[in-house]
Amino acid sequence: SDSDDREFTPAESVCPFCGVGCGIRYDPDSGGARGWRGPVNTKGEVCPKGVAAWDVVDHPDRLTAPLVREDGDLVETTWDDALDRVESAFGSVVAEHGPDAVSVFASSNCTNEENYVLQKCARLLGTNNVDNCARLCHSSTVAAMRDRFGAGAATNSLDDLREADALLVVGANPAENHPVIFRSYILPALRAGATMIHVDPRETATTAGADVHLQVRPGYDISLLNALAAVVVGDGLVDEAFCADRVDGLAAFERFAAGLDVDEEAARAGVDTADIRAAAHAYATADRAAIVTGMGVSQHHYGTATVHALLNLALLTGNVGRRGTGVNPLRGQNNVQGASDVGALPDRLPGGRPVTDPDARAAVADVWGVAPDDLPADPGLTEVEATHAFGDDVRAAFVLGENPAVTEPNAGRVADALDALECLVVQDLFRTETADHADVVLPGSAWAERGGTVTNTDRQVIRMRPNAAPPADARRDLDVLCDLGARLTGRPEAFDYDGPEAVFEELTAATPPYAGMSYAGIDTGSQRWPFPAGADEGTAVLHRTTFANGNRRTPLRVVDHVDPADAVGDDDLVLTTGRVIEHFNSGALTRRSDRLVRMRGDETLQIHPDDAEVLGVADGDQVRIENDRGRTTAVAEVTPAVRPGTVFATFHTLAPLANALTGDTLDPVAKIPEYKHSAVRVRVVTTD
Ligand code: SF4
Repeated sequence: SDSDDREFTPAESVCPFCGVGCGIRYDPDSGGARGWRGPVNTKGEVCPKGVAAWDVVDHPDRLTAPLVREDGDLVETTWDDALDRVESAFGSVVAEHGPDAVSVFASSNCTNEENYVLQKCARLLGTNNVDNCARLCHSSTVAAMRDRFGAGAATNSLDDLREADALLVVGANPAENHPVIFRSYILPALRAGATMIHVDPRETATTAGADVHLQVRPGYDISLLNALAAVVVGDGLVDEAFCADRVDGLAAFERFAAGLDVDEEAARAGVDTADIRAAAHAYATADRAAIVTGMGVSQHHYGTATVHALLNLALLTGNVGRRGTGVNPLRGQNNVQGASDVGALPDRLPGGRPVTDPDARAAVADVWGVAPDDLPADPGLTEVEATHAFGDDVRAAFVLGENPAVTEPNAGRVADALDALECLVVQDLFRTETADHADVVLPGSAWAERGGTVTNTDRQVIRMRPNAAPPADARRDLDVLCDLGARLTGRPEAFDYDGPEAVFEELTAATPPYAGMSYAGIDTGSQRWPFPAGADEGTAVLHRTTFANGNRRTPLRVVDHVDPADAVGDDDLVLTTGRVIEHFNSGALTRRSDRLVRMRGDETLQIHPDDAEVLGVADGDQVRIENDRGRTTAVAEVTPAVRPGTVFATFHTLAPLANALTGDTLDPVAKIPEYKHSAVRVRVVTTD
């Protein structure tokens, strides 16, 4: 641990990792983190990552002073010097190329208040080039759900999962990646007799609780979902009363479904027809059936279309707008929902209103005390689009608490892109792989050092409270962002806040779904959006009588299979990536926790025994995984848990990178890349 003399005082905060939003705080008895009885982890339960969360707060690698590049090296400097350099470099880029030559990466790991201030800074600078890594996980889910339901968020509360009679868990592994949801919300439903269908190319800890496992071929979810819909239609399982009341286009969809050959779709998806029939009947005949969805669905270049196919199932069977039903994306980071809610998106102002809507711009400009014409009207670049434009249309970038050098696809190309910038500024806790490319690195504040709010996966806004001051010369992120906003926009009055509560008050005025919230109200536990001004409480079940866009009815959508971007040759296997319980995203935090590294240190590649035999790979062998984009190595884990023809690796490694292999073909609607299907070749490097 570090040797500074900071005082640590327990204060109720939120785990910095997944989107469950468990309450944690400093524990003086253990000198680490422990759970408190939060609004989600109501018994104070946490997973191994929550326990390890303190390890990053009190870590010797923490950046404690700003760094600037001098003669090729990053060296410590003062805050004044660092911020002067940012102001000067960004000022030159804007003067020469215009504000759209700047790109801002906000952070789904930072608070609503921090993200709100940062998107305000970008927009007052004159650009909508602001995004957060929600782009990389659930942007396709959000796009499809907003299109059909009017709101890109979980339709129901976590409490509702306990009420479900059937759970369709698609492309998600909550037992490992959202452990408190699995243990405290899904398992109680299963114990009460609910049926669970698990759709995943792998057998995981989640599958252990499932009644039916549909071990789909990566990339063929649309075929699988269409086959399920065809069985629902063909076997008379459509909820006719619900569809008559709430759904358009049933007859056309039924014609489409009747034209599908279930055996053919099932074969393409690599799943037995009998299992598909069993799953369709279990889901459609349950009184209350809930869909839980993850990145196995969303991270494809047709991710939005796949989510549309999933929404068809919920609508056909009348599983929307009631307790225990709905479509519930499991969000990846602790504030991935909130960062998007408060406008850290290139096409959306706070509250999800389009930047292209003059009335929305006028409303936000009014809150900010600026002229409507001061706000840019054209949608900006998404994260991956921005990276592709680095060194070309984009000359300067600011990255808050993200690590695109590790987390963006086609990592070799990302490294070159970061180097092509005239000025890269990174604000983070540690010298990350992205910071290695930076011109200025600003030390950030950890979860236990910040005040503010985050919005979890079921739309609950929860308070974070500081347990400590940042170490040495590190400062609170919100203070740094306000300084930057004042300097970069020349409007110091727009960034003159008396702490996070003042930012939140302005944020609620600019963000209609948050309009009725206050710190005083949230302090009683949490407040859930939508929470309009004057309401007594938020809304747990969305779309009860009308969808969030005000419409009573929404259409079914015919969706056809789309081939994955990578063609798979005879010698290729399909790499699909994901997470494990011990580590998180780029590993910037969890790889620095000794206790988590002791639990899992090596990067493994899961490979089926049939493929291992053909390739001469034994369990424990070092293997090389490569394709035209890059290469990496891992330790082979020969296991029947993964489908033949498919291999699985996490993307948590610091180096070498799984994302050296993934492709950057983007979904045309949501611009999410295809992380879940990459053609690779696997070879043994050494045999122990
Ligand atoms: Fe943190 Fe998620 Fe684990 Fe809860 S379930 S302790 S929020 S990582």
